[in-house]
Amino acid sequence: DDPTGNLHVAILPFMAHGHMIPIIDIAKLFASRRGVKTTIITTRLNAPLVSKQIPTTAEIHIELIRFPAAEAGVPEESETADFFSSTAQKMFFHAAALLRRPLDAALAKIRPDCLVSDAFFPWSAESAGKFGIPRLVFHGTGYFALCTAVCIRVHKPHKNSDSESFVVPCLPGKIELTPSQLPESARKEEEGNPFTELVREMAESEGKSYGVIVNSFRELEPNYADFYRDELGRRNWAIGPVSLSNRRSEEKAGRGGRGTGESSSDCLKWLESKEPDSVIYICFGSLADFADSQLKEIAAALESWGGSFIWVVRKDPRTESESESEEEWLPVGFEDRTAEKGLIIRGWAPQILILDHEAVGGFVTHCGWNSTLEGITVGKAMVTWPVAAEQFYNEKLVTAVLGIGLPVEAEKWVRGTGDDEVIMAEGIEIAVRRLMDGDEGKEMRRKAKELREMARMAIEEGGSSHSSLSDLIDELKQRSHV
Ligand code: UDP
Repeated sequence: DDPTGNLHVAILPFMAHGHMIPIIDIAKLFASRRGVKTTIITTRLNAPLVSKQIPTTAEIHIELIRFPAAEAGVPEESETADFFSSTAQKMFFHAAALLRRPLDAALAKIRPDCLVSDAFFPWSAESAGKFGIPRLVFHGTGYFALCTAVCIRVHKPHKNSDSESFVVPCLPGKIELTPSQLPESARKEEEGNPFTELVREMAESEGKSYGVIVNSFRELEPNYADFYRDELGRRNWAIGPVSLSNRRSEEKAGRGGRGTGESSSDCLKWLESKEPDSVIYICFGSLADFADSQLKEIAAALESWGGSFIWVVRKDPRTESESESEEEWLPVGFEDRTAEKGLIIRGWAPQILILDHEAVGGFVTHCGWNSTLEGITVGKAMVTWPVAAEQFYNEKLVTAVLGIGLPVEAEKWVRGTGDDEVIMAEGIEIAVRRLMDGDEGKEMRRKAKELREMARMAIEEGGSSHSSLSDLIDELKQRSHV
């Protein structure tokens, strides 16, 4: 126990941007509460990514653990988020499992009162058990996706049904999915898929854990929050949207959130010149890597629509000597023709800052949970374009449950097969027009703005997420007698 009488929370992030960003926000949330000491446990190569996200005034300690790359015969860089994005994920998960002994050593040294660890570290429940401390699971998705995943895993509706689409059994709201919209771990179960095995271990380890921390807020998905607790029996605390909690406290302290710097101020300056709700923001998260042929279709759709856009593309920034014609993924002359209307960001964009601007009226998203929730948090309507994992579930939440987005309808507009498969410009343009120019989009923006207000209330003192974190901290303090 901490001699100062603080509750000591240790946090173990998984090294992919979509997991790391919100769990570090969670660390900041804990650290912002009185009587809580927070330590993030991570490896040397990840430490700079972690500290970049922590304001210097936040009292968060970083405990370094050694990554045993050599012993395991994997490249040293396989511990970082960049590796996760670019290379065989199987190897990455193998590497992640190697952190078990270093974690145990760190826990023995720092002796925290509880461990918050990513769901992708199922073995960490046993580590916590060894030291007699509770482990809290962080999944990185919301209630709707958590519930859908359990219902699919338990009932396997895609196995019993020959028909194209099925209604997810047990799940409230008669949600329809097609087998192709399921994550690989569910779709390819019988083939001895390593992800299926991981998902099984994750489910088992959740049973041995103290509870689940959810980055959502109750008012967003009350039916699914209830279902998760009452029908699926998961003890949990919704403390989100975590990005909003931190941004607001950082604003109060006179600091910018993450993503400040040259490019942010350029983006904001550019957005200042645009009318409210006139710009569409297009970004597919930290992992999605579209083929050049798909990027060309997106470019053609944007040009033909003719409205204003900010488009984030996972490409290296152009060097001074490079011209547009050397960039194969962009139609020649595109940037000249759209100079007034469009801004292309090559690499990493200050997403939260852009999304929050009043000029942005729509968001084309891959429906990663962080992006989805960030969009909701600032009241934006969406065109949903899921690519993998639980993104198809998040799409359903946005389109079928919340009514704040419309799908790009990949199955209707797809051309080609395999690596040559693209969603055609025409389909993309139709979705963008419907969202940005029509009454339908206006109504979605109205609803999204209502959710924004609910999100803000949830994180204020007395709001559901704020109280939920207080309850969790009280419970943990009582449990560990601090
Ligand atoms: N993000 C960003 N700039 C980018 C791309 C992504 O700030 O150019 C952030 C985004 O705000 C979100 C996270 O990276 O917090 C992506 O997480 P998400 O769950 O949406 O998708 P993933 O990357 O896991 O597929």
